[in-house]
Amino acid sequence: MAHLSPTFLNSLTWLLTDLMYEPLLLDTFGRTATDLRISVTDRCNLRCVYCLPEKVTDWLKRSDLLRPEEFRRLAKIAATLGVTQARITGGEPLLRPDLPQIVEAVREGFEDAGVEPDLALTTNGIGLDRVIDSLVDAGLQRLNVSIDSLDPVRFAELSRRKRSSDVLRGLDAVDASALPGTVKLNTVVVDQQSLAEIPALVTFALERGYQWRAIEFMPIGPLAASFSSRPTAHDIQRVLRESFELTDVITAASEPARRWSVAPSDTHPGGIIGVIASMTSPFCASCTRTRLSADGKIYSCLFSVDSVDLHTPMRAGASDEELAELWKDAMWAKPAGHQLLAPVPQSYSMSKIGG
Ligand code: SAM
Repeated sequence: MAHLSPTFLNSLTWLLTDLMYEPLLLDTFGRTATDLRISVTDRCNLRCVYCLPEKVTDWLKRSDLLRPEEFRRLAKIAATLGVTQARITGGEPLLRPDLPQIVEAVREGFEDAGVEPDLALTTNGIGLDRVIDSLVDAGLQRLNVSIDSLDPVRFAELSRRKRSSDVLRGLDAVDASALPGTVKLNTVVVDQQSLAEIPALVTFALERGYQWRAIEFMPIGPLAASFSSRPTAHDIQRVLRESFELTDVITAASEPARRWSVAPSDTHPGGIIGVIASMTSPFCASCTRTRLSADGKIYSCLFSVDSVDLHTPMRAGASDEELAELWKDAMWAKPAGHQLLAPVPQSYSMSKIGG
């Protein structure tokens, strides 16, 4: 900073102050949030060893969860602030019996603001066979299904639940549905066994016409302390290159995954795969995300412990303009990067804030 002239710094301050009054979710580092992550519940029917402890006692109260009409209102406000896409997540979003109504409400909220949203869902897939058609009718376009192993024993070890056949049944239903957009399979790579299973998971995904994403383990949740001994994106790429013929796919700076096109082989038709290196190659500098928790709080970063509550003012009668200002304030304070934040408390998990 020492070499910047006071006049330049003064102009910069004025520019930022001007921008602050724009209807945008801007932060002090010049990033604009256009991608809304909506958590609809903190509860989950799995207990993935890296995400949740077996016993959870501090679930949100049901009366504190946002209702479909509240999601509609907040989606409209987000759209007026420049948000163009939304991903519904959790906890496990399929645990909300009113999920199709929520998807419809979010879509309608965007439409109320004249925006045709790109609407996606992240789920573990359990129960998808029962609701996929209603979700598609409600406006769902794209789907990410988390699956860490195809082996039922390993799946149960990692998730502490014997539910792998339920996930596969969900995927069968997705294949038979009219979902218009892509299906991605997401795998968190937690140890050597996860690395060894990558070729089988990639082959399975490509055979079915899905994209596959490896997620680098992040130091959040019960296994956070063992972070340094976990495989990195580099280890994942080594396994991928050993097993598949890869060609780089050029991606936008805001795209979190490094992607490759996989050449077809005897066992699969080829397709697209990626690695999300949130820790070894963080994409914070081009992050476009804003996060709404199931109880109506705005988080500017997945690793933030600070949030801005929209729920209480909304239920107390705040206007759309007042809620929009609160949302803008929350994003204005977005940190430069998650690695600059203090370690998150042990009780913290992606299930709480919406991974
Ligand atoms: N229940 C849904 C699901 O399974 O996709 C949505 C919520 S879940 C918290 C979202 C994603 O976060 C999942 O893919 C999960 O594996 C991932 N996740 C949770 N804890 C993680 C961690 N410590 N490191 C990396 N990914 C994690």
